[in-house]
Parts: sequence; structure tokens; C-alpha cells
Amino acid sequence: MAGDGIGFAEALLGLDGFRVLGVGDLDGEVVVLIETTAERVGCSGCGVVAEAQDRMEVEVRDLACFGRPARLRWAKRRWRCREPLCDKKTWTEETPHVSPRSVLTRRAGADACRRVGEEARPVSRLARELGVSWSTVMDAVVEHGTPLVEDPGRIGPVRQLGVDETSFLRAKPEHPTRFVTGLVDLDRRVMIDLIEGNAAGDVRAWLGGRPDGWLAGVATVATDLHEPYRNGLSPHLAHAQRVADPFHVVGVANRCLDTVRRRVQQETLGHRGRKRDPLYRIRRVLLRGAERLDERGNRRMLLALRVGDPKDEVLGAWLAKESVRDVYLAENPADATTLLDKAIVGCAADDVPEIQALGRTLTSWRTEILAHHETGASNGPTEALNLLVKKVKRCGHGFKNFDHYRLRVLLHTGGVKWDAPPTARIRARSPHSFA
Ligand SMILES: [Zn+2]
Repeated sequence: MAGDGIGFAEALLGLDGFRVLGVGDLDGEVVVLIETTAERVGCSGCGVVAEAQDRMEVEVRDLACFGRPARLRWAKRRWRCREPLCDKKTWTEETPHVSPRSVLTRRAGADACRRVGEEARPVSRLARELGVSWSTVMDAVVEHGTPLVEDPGRIGPVRQLGVDETSFLRAKPEHPTRFVTGLVDLDRRVMIDLIEGNAAGDVRAWLGGRPDGWLAGVATVATDLHEPYRNGLSPHLAHAQRVADPFHVVGVANRCLDTVRRRVQQETLGHRGRKRDPLYRIRRVLLRGAERLDERGNRRMLLALRVGDPKDEVLGAWLAKESVRDVYLAENPADATTLLDKAIVGCAADDVPEIQALGRTLTSWRTEILAHHETGASNGPTEALNLLVKKVKRCGHGFKNFDHYRLRVLLHTGGVKWDAPPTARIRARSPHSFA
């Protein structure tokens, strides 16, 4: 171990190729004066031994030191080539510890990337903590995060794939709502990728970029009832069994019920739902599962329907919704088939146009809906991941740059391996040691 103060400082700093000239304190910050140890440098243009010209001082932010912010003040050397015929003239030295033009050491950048990615912390907060600009931190996230996300080993083989859309940018006068499509490994519960758009072509293009062996390994694909996704799976995943995600199937029935309720509300009272309107008051009760309604809830619902639903249209939509939910109570594929076909027949027999439309959707997705009972596949894990995505989204305060958004979502939910150096354990002192 080093015995003098400078030696101590160099051991603490741990940047090879640098020596410490002094350590100071500036408003609670640790300031370390450093220079490189290089004495003889060859010109990269001609190889002639270069001549030291002068130094310029640059400051870079490093990892905090014993809980205090630390900055390195680097007396950066400028070299000159003495060879008159060489074009190189002068240059400043570089180090692998600091990326060119960055004001963060690479290790501080890697740590910032981990905190933004793994912990989903806002870039702006880290920038404030480090005393650097937002773009300095974001550059570090891109520099250190991109290799982690683009690592070909990250995705791995996928047996059950989930495809799910989320909104990326809300509609504005300049553009409609923009959607992105998340691709999830349902077994590992990891977001393998995020693609811009939710059209068939977007999904197909992504699948087209996968190796044949990877595509062949995908046995099932769970999607919501979004027609473009179904189309986008061909031709690359035509062999996989398609499953309509139960959550979204019930969601379609819920939306049908909501639409009918709003229309009947408007037709009977001539205005949108208000606090005292009977249908508005039961809007949540209607969407609750029948088995979760107690007697009081049941009575409240029936009474409101009697008052607010003169032609039993809302009641019809509620029954249709319940008939769809029943499909998922079935214990075997045969019962599920019977129940789904009953729901379809029931919807077709109803004269409410919204309910008829629900019946057509169920017919169109019949195979995929029933496939859930055979495979057990659902986008349940996707929904859990969507919560993590929302966390990233919230801390980004509205992303505009899709690439940044994708990077940060995948760093947080994409199964990235963060390498933390193994740390030897220090055991707590036990009373026995003193015995
Ligand atoms: Zn030269």
C-alpha cells in the first residue's frame, strides 16, 4: 500500500495512466488535480517522437468520493509534431477513461446510465446531482446503454411471444395519437423490443429481421384484438398458434357495454352522464364481474336499469359482457367452446347494433379466443410490464424522441445484464469476536 498522501490519492482514484498532483476542496466538492504519466509520445501521423507544447485545464465529473461530489481537474497536454512534412501539427492527449468531448468520466457515465436505466431515475435529476447538463447524462445513457440493449444475447429464444400496443405520444393538433408496439417474452416477462407504430407492416418488418431459427422457436403469440397484428404475424410467424389475450377480449365486451350505456343515456336524457343520472351512477358497477356484486349492488344495478334503460339495451350489453366473461370460467376447452358459441349466438340474436358488432368480433377471433384454453397463454405479464413502462414514461415527462424512449424502456424492462463488480463481503462484527 502507498505510504505518502499522493500515493493514497492515486490508489483511491484508481485511474491507470494518471498521477495525482494534489487534492483539494471546493465548496464541499472533492477536487483532484491530475495529469497523465505519458512522457514520450509518438505522432500518430508519422511516428516521430512528439514534443510537449503546453497544457490546458479541463474539468470532468467523476463518481462521488466518500459521499461527496468529485471533480477531476486534468492538466491536459497538447503535443506537437516536429516533423515539418507531417500534417498532424498539434493534438491534445486522450484517455480511455473519458470519452472525447464528454465532461463525465466513463465510469461516472456508466453509473449514470445504470441509474437511469435500471432504476428508471429521471435524467434531469441525475444531471442536477452531477452538476452537468441534461444532454451530458443522456449522451452517457446512449453511449453505455446502447451496447447493453443491442447485445444479441439479450433477446434469447422466445417460446411465447406477447404483442401489445401502448400509446407513445398523445394526440396533438399536429399529429394523431402515436402508438408503439411492445414485444414481450411471456415466459421470462421481459420486454424484448419496442417498435414504432402498430400497423401490420411494423410488426412484419421487425419479424423479418429475426433469424429463422428464432422465429421457428416461437410456438404461441398472444395479441389483443387488433387486426393489423394478426396480419403482421404472417408470413414469419404463420406457424405459431395465435392467442387472443383474455384481458383484451373482456375489454372489448366492456367497451361495447360502455358505448351502449352512453348512447342510451344520451337518447333518454339528452345529455352526457351527470352525477345523479341512473345509468351514470352504475357505470362502474356494470363493468364489475357479476360474481363480485353483492345483493345490494345487484339491486342498485337492476333499479337503475329499470329507470334509465327503457328498452333493455344496456341490460342486453351487460348480459353479453357477462357471457364473454363466462368463457374464461370454463374449466376445459370443450366447455369454453360451448360458452363462446352461446355468447356469439346471443349477440347475433340481439337487435342492438353495438352488441351485434361485438358478436362479429367474437366470431372473427373465435379460434384465437379458444386457443387461450389450450395454451394457457395470456398477455398478463405484458400488463405488468406496462406498469414499468409507465414508470419510465412518467420520469421522462413526455418523450419526443422515440429512440431515447425505446432505449430507456428496454434498459428498464428488457432483461439487461448490469454488471456490478463482485464485492467481497465484510462481515458484521459479532459479539463472539470479543469473547
Ligand atoms: Zn507527425
